[in-house]
Amino acid sequence: FPCDKIRNFGIIAHIDHGKSTLADRLLELTGTISKNSSENKQVLDKLKVERERGITVKAQTASMLMDHSDTTYLLNLIDTPGHVDFAWEVLRSLTACQGALLLVDASQGVQAQTLSVYHAAKERGVKIIPVVNKIDLPAADPERIIAQMSATLDIDPSEVIRISAKTGIGISNVLQAIIDRVPPPTAQRDQKLKGLLFDSSYDRYRGVISLFSLQDGQIKKGDKIISCHTKKRYDVMEVGVMNPEETPVGTLYAGQVGYVACNMKQSSEAHIGDTFYRMGEPVEPMGGFKQSKAMVYAGVFPVDSNDFPKLEESIERLTLTDRSVSVQRESSAALGQGCRLGFLGTLHMDVFRQRLEDEYDANVIITSPSVPYEILYRGNKIKHVSNPVDFPDPHDHTVIEVREPMVKATIIVPDEYLGDMMDLVSSHRGSDIEHKYLDTGSTAARAILTSMLPLSEVVTDFFDKLKQRSSGFASFDYEDAGYMQSDLYKMMLQLNGKPIDALAMVVHKSNVQKIGRIWTKKLKEVIPRQLFEVAIQATIGSKVQSRETISAIRKDVTAGLYGGHYERKLKHLERQKESKKKMKKVGNIQLPQEAFYDILRTK
Ligand code: GDP
Ligand code: MG
Repeated sequence: FPCDKIRNFGIIAHIDHGKSTLADRLLELTGTISKNSSENKQVLDKLKVERERGITVKAQTASMLMDHSDTTYLLNLIDTPGHVDFAWEVLRSLTACQGALLLVDASQGVQAQTLSVYHAAKERGVKIIPVVNKIDLPAADPERIIAQMSATLDIDPSEVIRISAKTGIGISNVLQAIIDRVPPPTAQRDQKLKGLLFDSSYDRYRGVISLFSLQDGQIKKGDKIISCHTKKRYDVMEVGVMNPEETPVGTLYAGQVGYVACNMKQSSEAHIGDTFYRMGEPVEPMGGFKQSKAMVYAGVFPVDSNDFPKLEESIERLTLTDRSVSVQRESSAALGQGCRLGFLGTLHMDVFRQRLEDEYDANVIITSPSVPYEILYRGNKIKHVSNPVDFPDPHDHTVIEVREPMVKATIIVPDEYLGDMMDLVSSHRGSDIEHKYLDTGSTAARAILTSMLPLSEVVTDFFDKLKQRSSGFASFDYEDAGYMQSDLYKMMLQLNGKPIDALAMVVHKSNVQKIGRIWTKKLKEVIPRQLFEVAIQATIGSKVQSRETISAIRKDVTAGLYGGHYERKLKHLERQKESKKKMKKVGNIQLPQEAFYDILRTK
């Protein structure tokens, strides 16, 4: 394929505005997959978790052929995730595109992620093709939405395409626009090989499979290529295109997007943003990517401590397909050997856990999420703390101040919920509130609320509350806004004076009482009674903030069970024997590992 017959494009949108559905229609219309309109296949959503949750987590790539006025075009589509946590994936995939379809739901209009993906595409100089989707819906109001887009997004109303990805209306106009409006890649085939690695996955048999966007030159089986970053040499075993399954081809040419299997064995070797060249023909590396930044950390431990080696291997495999997760070993007195993982957000964390369970059959305990703190010590030394256990004690006089990460949050909401949203923000320690209207004069006016919030407030249940209090109408996005000084303390939970390290947390002064009470209550519910009294305390330094007591049990454990019915008794003893194996000790207190599982799963 000559470059002028190639189009590389992505689909960007707020979650649920129809990216995956449109991708399916495009693949059908070009005959890449067979048509079966009775079901919504969402071919590109390959992961089980994506199908179940109906969200796209990982950007997928597919190539299709399109005949248009006697010419065949090669269209490379990159489907992108829409959730706020996965913005990094969106940016990454846009680097391989010259154009992007910006989808907006005809009934919902511009939402928080519509703005962020639009600006990301604009910054990268990607040609934007605005599309209004779901015009088949009774509540669709394309004219109003188009006016809104042109008011907020610098979009020419005459360029907006109206479609229904569900019924298929207007899809051919989209293909036409891709060919007409997206510029072809400006690649040089007769130049030295220059390939950008923009994604990777792992195959049990072939090892690491890398997705390449070929800037210059060509690549085929048998080539010897070298990484600019590591200087390591690889033998190319197979090259191909995603059609949408992996389809081997003889040669990949500049301007194309495709996969390369070489003898890359370790997850750590595939650096996203790395440039590859042919042995003996070095090139200047391309700009590359900014490393993703972990916003949320959590410890991951196997439910059965013997499973740690297996868990660690599964985590390593999984991080290959999701390079935005950072991994470090961690050991806990209460939970044994585990890993501390950094995620882009809490949905990202949930999705990772589910993938571990689905794809690697791993049973894990995940500690409460925490954010990275910055501690300023005497002598201007700064330390970053991503595990609450390492947070300094209040009596540590070498600490000058502690700082927490802040975010600039954008909330878009119908006017009538604006007051509620402002309350929500201020009850989560938010400030600097400013608001304006998206579309003035219309009956269904919507407001944009911008505020500064501590990240730690955003990563817990903020999103759920936002949805609840706006009847599901609010959309939300946030970006990094640096660190700010804050009154934070390390809270420990203790059983008869022995701290449980896995439950350490950092809390704001204003929340100390409340959170202490919640957690001591929670512990009281899950900790089995012992032969002696157990004091549960939430402490800051040496000060007790909250306390609960579990009274001692009588010697005969079954005596208290509904008059001691025989079968019931037997069952109880069996269960006790079973769980003894997984008991953890905190001081002299026996704790079933499941107690941690329960306590960390309940909100
Ligand atoms: P994504 O999150 O952007 O990938 O969105 P999906 O493609 O998963 O679509 C979200 C939901 O909207 C699904 O239930 C789709 O069936 C539905 N949907 C997508 N396009 C249309 C459309 O044109 N009309 C209607 N009525 N529903 C649509
Ligand atoms: Mg999707």
